[in-house]
Amino acid sequence: MAIKRKWMPSPCYHSRGGIKPYKIILHTAEGATTIESLGNFFANGSNQVSSQCGADDKKDILGEYVSRGNAAWTQAAYNEESVSLELCGFASWSRSTWLNQHSNMLDNAATWVREEANHYGIPIVALNNSQAQGGGRGVAQHVNLGSGGGGHVDCGGGFPMDELIKRAKGGSAAQEPELVLWEDRMMWLVFDAGNPDASEAPACCIAIPNELSRGKHKIRFACRRQADFRVLTTAGKTEVHLEQEGALSVEIPDGCRVVTVKLDSDQLAPGVPVSPISACISEK
Ligand SMILES: [Zn+2]
Repeated sequence: MAIKRKWMPSPCYHSRGGIKPYKIILHTAEGATTIESLGNFFANGSNQVSSQCGADDKKDILGEYVSRGNAAWTQAAYNEESVSLELCGFASWSRSTWLNQHSNMLDNAATWVREEANHYGIPIVALNNSQAQGGGRGVAQHVNLGSGGGGHVDCGGGFPMDELIKRAKGGSAAQEPELVLWEDRMMWLVFDAGNPDASEAPACCIAIPNELSRGKHKIRFACRRQADFRVLTTAGKTEVHLEQEGALSVEIPDGCRVVTVKLDSDQLAPGVPVSPISACISEK
């Protein structure tokens, strides 16, 4: 079922001049926090600004201000080839603010992206800067348009574009920002120093959850003093040498579910198995 659109027309638009839109551009409104107050702002012609649609925290409804057949006034040189939506939020929001406090807004925006993509046959893929500024067909944020788009920074560095694309494609909505948690959570490696097999160096295993074992993540080791150890993954062995206060990353290969760390024998202080080596997993 199509999302409801509340029509609040703006006088700020012009003809697309025969151009069929092939870019879907997302913005943050940086002021209005409801689709109604945004509509009031766009309804005032002296503001000289508009957007096709707007999304706020109310479930399953969008504001519509300029019909998709006309060019709205929101991204400078890219108005004719773009359909545009304002999220009633701020570029300063963090990823967790978006995901945990404005999930409805993301859902509404994702539904809008899906509807526009279906209408114009635009692929639901995130464009990088050069694709967005060139002939790329897909979804971008205002910031991706660079100076030709007016040099704006929205939707901000915390905007969860990956999640928006996933929801627009119809993926299940994430209930929690798992990767953020993983990146924030540092693990202290605990080695089996009491290994009864004396020929084996102390070792520990790190289980890699499915979503982090798809070849897109790395595991970063840090130590406050010099350390040497071996990291074993499905890609083989990596010898790691950390200087004092050093840190190094090892890629987690696609399909690798367990990373094993083996210590070289003589560099451990008393106090094993609580080693001074820490690890965290992050995106490559
Ligand atoms: Zn913008």
